[in-house]
Amino acid sequence: MVENLEDMEFAIPDGLLDEIQQNIENIIRDFDVPEENKNEVIKQINYIYTRTKYLSITDELTGLSNRRCFDSTFEKEFLRAQRYNNKLTLVMFDIDFFKKVNDTYGHQCGDYILKQVSNAALQTFRKTDTVFRFGGEEFVVILTETDIEQSIIPLERFRKTVETLDLNYQNQKLNITVSIGACQLTPEIHTAEEFLHQTDNALYEAKNSGRNKTVLSNYQ
Ligand code: GH3
Ligand code: MG
Ligand code: MG
Repeated sequence: MVENLEDMEFAIPDGLLDEIQQNIENIIRDFDVPEENKNEVIKQINYIYTRTKYLSITDELTGLSNRRCFDSTFEKEFLRAQRYNNKLTLVMFDIDFFKKVNDTYGHQCGDYILKQVSNAALQTFRKTDTVFRFGGEEFVVILTETDIEQSIIPLERFRKTVETLDLNYQNQKLNITVSIGACQLTPEIHTAEEFLHQTDNALYEAKNSGRNKTVLSNYQ
């Protein structure tokens, strides 16, 4: 028996939820009430459904795709790239000494930084690349149709953009840097978990070798 809601695996596919939504709409259409009332109820249900769907995959603070969205997207992108031999690069970045920002200027200032860094990421990467908030001050980017060599320029551009961001919180000027780890999909990587783990190792190396730098995992 499931003791806790958190332990439940909600493996209802998106397509099935859309079908359920469509059935609800059909049931309402059969109600014996004036047409305009039906339309209003359907409109409201559609709005709530779309909004709930959006909220379930979005990080509230930054507006980026959230961890739940990453988990489902990444698995799919990994399998697709593996099957069709497509190029795929995974990126993890983490704000340097972020705890110090919170401790020195307060949590709200930390939130402001998180939003600014997120915006910088959205503006730097291509529309086809998705930026996710992985958790806390750690982010992931999936670079589709991109190998490690092609990712160097955008990643360095992003690192420098953050380094030179004009950050101003309550008349305090702030400087922030990020450490970046990236890894391309190769035949030696067999699972999405391995791919993520190898990318995380590259980020760890970027942190350990001085921060504010990009480490490429399997680049010769
Ligand atoms: P490093 O350079 O090694 O990454 O050091 P760090 O200080 O960035 O890393 P650490 O993991 O020690 O601290 C992360 C901090 O991020 C601690 C936590 O309070 C803060 N944090 C996580 N989520 C949020 C958030 O949503 N808002 C704010 N303001 N802070 C957050
Ligand atoms: Mg950090
Ligand atoms: Mg961290």
